[in-house]
Formats: sequence, structure tokens, C-alpha cells
Amino acid sequence: MAKKNIKKSWAEPFKIKVVEPIKVTTREHREKAAKVAGYNTFLLKSEDVYIDLLTDSGTNAMSDYQWAGMMLGDEAYAGSKNFYYLWNNVKKYYGMPYFVPTHQGRAAEHMISKILIKKGDYVPGNMYFTTTRLHQELAGATFVDVIIDEAHNPNDEHPFKGNIDLKKLDKLVKKVGADKIAYVSMAGPVNMAGGQPFSMDNLEKVYEYTKKHKIKLWFDATRACENAFFIKEREKGYKDKTIPQILKEMCKYFDGLWVSAKKDLMVNIGGFLATRNKKVYEEARNMVVVYEGLHTYGGLAGRDMEAMARGIEEMVEYENIRMRIKQVEYAGEQLAKYKIPMVKPFGGHAIFLDAKRILNHLSQDELPAQTLASEIFIDSGVRGMERGIVSAGRDPETGDHRRPKLELVRLTFPRRVYTQSHIDVMVESVASVYEDRKSIKGLKFVYEPKYLRFFQGRFEKLK
Ligand SMILES: *Cc1c(COP(=O)(O)O)cnc(C)c1O
Repeated sequence: MAKKNIKKSWAEPFKIKVVEPIKVTTREHREKAAKVAGYNTFLLKSEDVYIDLLTDSGTNAMSDYQWAGMMLGDEAYAGSKNFYYLWNNVKKYYGMPYFVPTHQGRAAEHMISKILIKKGDYVPGNMYFTTTRLHQELAGATFVDVIIDEAHNPNDEHPFKGNIDLKKLDKLVKKVGADKIAYVSMAGPVNMAGGQPFSMDNLEKVYEYTKKHKIKLWFDATRACENAFFIKEREKGYKDKTIPQILKEMCKYFDGLWVSAKKDLMVNIGGFLATRNKKVYEEARNMVVVYEGLHTYGGLAGRDMEAMARGIEEMVEYENIRMRIKQVEYAGEQLAKYKIPMVKPFGGHAIFLDAKRILNHLSQDELPAQTLASEIFIDSGVRGMERGIVSAGRDPETGDHRRPKLELVRLTFPRRVYTQSHIDVMVESVASVYEDRKSIKGLKFVYEPKYLRFFQGRFEKLK
């Protein structure tokens, strides 16, 4: 029986069987490493990092069930049994009959953009994602952000900041015509907004709208299970539904979806495209041979597909997702004790520090989020990443910086990798950088690559 005054905590639904040592370095060592890396956390050597919160992409700990599956890899060039098992699980859990594996999410984005977009088309979406938008643009489309305004305000506590604003969508459709909309691109939770989910109610309305105007609706389902968890927690009528039920219900509204398996599925590499549209499937199945490999492996080994298939079974387990979301929440609550400005509500996969407010003495052109990420690394060896003006890139038409309203540092939690004590160390580091914030100077670009500049750009400290 629950005792009245005793809190009931959650704990990781696993115990640790294998460990990977990590090492603490000196501040002097980290200062040098940061300089060599051009103050870009993507260019640091992983060896120099103590707690790696760069991304949750492919950095997850697989279970013993997944590792055991790796030994069952059927490495046939064609028709591997792991492929059929994976296809079966995609049908069973996402409800999509057709499936093409890819080596990661962006390969599926590349294919779907090529298949559905004609030059001069528009793709409305609930905020952009870096690789998603780039592939849409490379295929000749213009991306238009139709997320609700609340998503651009880090202080707004709207429970579903990933929702699409139907008025914005309708305005675009009226302006350019429904036949110019290649598809509506919906993701959830929305990474760039701070890991914010969309509601089932909003999805249903978007679906009704697109159906009425004969517009296709596609799903970036990379983090779909996290979105399902938020629906269960926050939306009326979903408390008693299971994660697999909610996932299926979400997917039924879409013509198809793409997934980076490096997230929800808790593997180190993999992705796929799945659809109910046979024509799109046939085109993708043909195209994958050009870019990835035969349609029964798509750039993956048989063992990778086995780990993905088993990952699907684990990703829908309530305890698994709960632990993940609660870990992020714990980090947010601890940081809040030091009054650190952050995006609220706390997102699904990461804490987003509000660099604009933390380093409010820097202008956006002095790259506050890039600066903050590098200062946190220098302080403690905790690695996060920039999500602000550097990530947003340049407008392909004007060549100017795109200036997003949000200037954030993302601290992302790999699944099943770190414990609460690692989080405490991170929190203390952020708090000490925050205390010294006034003495921090900004950065400037010294090398800027053309595509996805945040990955390889180099910076120098301003004097
Ligand atoms: C990671 C990610 C992608 C791209 O997938 P990769 O596997 O990194 O190529 C696309 N969309 C979202 C929402 C993602 O998080």
C-alpha cells in the first residue's frame, strides 16, 4: 500500500551488465581540445568527452535481447530472414503494409523528397528539421513552417507545442494552391521546438483538412513513441490506452512515414520508409537500389535489421519510455533549482537551455548557443550542441543567415546510457557556467561549409 508521506520514485527498468569506462580530463586539456575543434562540439574527439549529451542518435545502449539478435544475422545479399522479421514488425506496430529499409533516416528522407516533390512545390511542416528540410530543398521544394506560434516561445507551457496551426496551413494552400503542396510533413515530438509533441486531436484535424484538399500527409515517425507517451500523459481520453494502441492510431492518419531507427528503436544504425501507397513503395524500392543497396537490406547488415526488429518490440514498452521521459524531467527539475532559463515544458529527449537569455549580453550574431555549448564542455567535459542561428543555416534565396527566434543548447539523453549521478554532474556544470555568464565572450565563424554548417563549421573566440 502506498504510504501517505513517502514519494514513489521511478527507476531504470534494467540493470547494468556491461560497462564502458569514461574518463575525467583537466580543464587545461579541455580548453586545448575545444580550440583544436574550432569550438564546435561536433568536431571534438569522443575520447575527450566525459558525459556525452551531443545527441540521442545511434548512441543508445542495446538490450541483451537486441545483442543476442545480432548473432542471428542472416547476411545473405538477398532475402535475409532478418528483413522479413523487421518488415513484419513494421506492419504490426506502425500499421504500414509496405516497407523499405535504409542505412539511416536521412536516406529515407532523400527518397521520399525525390519521389513526391516537383520543382517549385511547397512542403509545409511543424517546424523544420535540419536533414528533412535540406532534402526537401534539394528536391526543389520550399519548406514553410506551419507550427503553432507557441512553439517559438520557450516560456509558453502549452502541452502540445508540436501542433500544426491550421490557419497557417490554410493560408499557404490558398496562396499557392493545393496542387503545389507536395505533402504535409509532420513530426513528433518536434526536435527543434524542444522535443514538443503534437496531440491526436490536432493530427485528426490536419488529416481532415488534407483529405478535403487531396493533399498527402507524411510522418517523420523517428520519435513517434515519445509522442505517443505524451498523448497518453496529457490528452483527454488516452490515459488507459497502451503505447502500441496510440502509435497505431497516430499512424493510421498518414500516407506513409520515415524513421531514423537510431532514436526510438534504440539501435546504433538504421532507418526505413514505410507507406500504404503502393506506387510510392514501388518507386522507393527501385530507388533504394541506386543509393543504399538491394531493397531487402538497404545499406544495413542482416544483424542490424534484427536489432531494429527487436528494438521495435522494446520501444513500445511503457516502462522504457517512461524512464526516458522522466530522466529528462529530472534533469530539468534539477536545473530549475538554479533558475537556469530553459524551454518549457521539458521535452521528450532533451533539455534545451535558453542561450538567448543565459548569455543576454551577446547579440545573435555573436552565436550565444554555440558559445554556451563550448563553455559547458570546457567547464566539465559535458558535450551538448547548438540549436540556433548556426543550425538554421542560410536562406537559399537571399544568402543571409536565417535568424530563428530560439537560440538553444540541446543536452540530449541517449537511451539507457547514463544514470542520475551523471545528470547531477551535468547540472552542476551548467549552474557554474551560468554563475560566470557575464564574463563569457561570443564566437565568430572562421569556416562555414555550404550544407548543414553546424556539423563542420569552425569558430574563433571574439576578443
Ligand atoms: C535524426 C532525425 C532525422 C535524421 O535521421 P538520421 O538517422 O540522423 O539520418 C530525421 N528526423 C528527425 C526528427 C530526427 O530526429
